[in-house]
Amino acid sequence: MPRRLFVALWPDAKVRRELAMLQARSEMRAASGRTVPAKNIHMTLRFLGDVDASQQRALEARLAEFVFEPVTLTLDRVGYWPRSGILWLGLRKTPRSFNIAAQRLSTELRALGFRADGRGFKAHVTLARDAGPAKHFVFNPVTWHARDLVLAASERLPQGARYTVLVRSGTAKIDCIR
Ligand code: ATP
Ligand code: MG
Repeated sequence: MPRRLFVALWPDAKVRRELAMLQARSEMRAASGRTVPAKNIHMTLRFLGDVDASQQRALEARLAEFVFEPVTLTLDRVGYWPRSGILWLGLRKTPRSFNIAAQRLSTELRALGFRADGRGFKAHVTLARDAGPAKHFVFNPVTWHARDLVLAASERLPQGARYTVLVRSGTAKIDCIR
């Protein structure tokens, strides 16, 4: 059975907690919709869709070898996509190194036969779906020292999506190099 896979950055407990606190704010709750459960919060880098078992093994092997340099992301911007009803947090400024890493990932995936959909990458963390815009939402930026790039599987169940982390990418051991 093929599995529905995506590559994402997985937040640590601190970031997860801070994002959950933002979700709990009244301006956010007023936007209603389906709040993403804290355990599900992530930033998708690439959605791969249905992948068969042999492709999955190849992806796991590549991702395990992929060195993701930790990057600091400042989530300082709230946004809303009316067509999909997605309420998200994003970055005013995306670090250059992060764009380069996303590009490198794309090259690796292309080598495995996964082509980008051409819509471009908009770094964001979805906080709620089927939501309205969050009006007058002022908040302290969330600083995320992102280091866990993962391959995840999604099962869409009646009670909502369930994600499983299949493999984490290698992380550059910057501390050891210095
Ligand atoms: P549900 O679809 O049941 O509401 P979900 O969107 O969390 O839940 P998936 O649809 O499996 O679960 O998506 C997994 C991740 O991939 C999410 O971050 C989602 O936004 C992203 N994603 C899903 N489909 C696409 C797509 N066509 N293009 C880009 N990203 C996608
Ligand atoms: Mg979806």
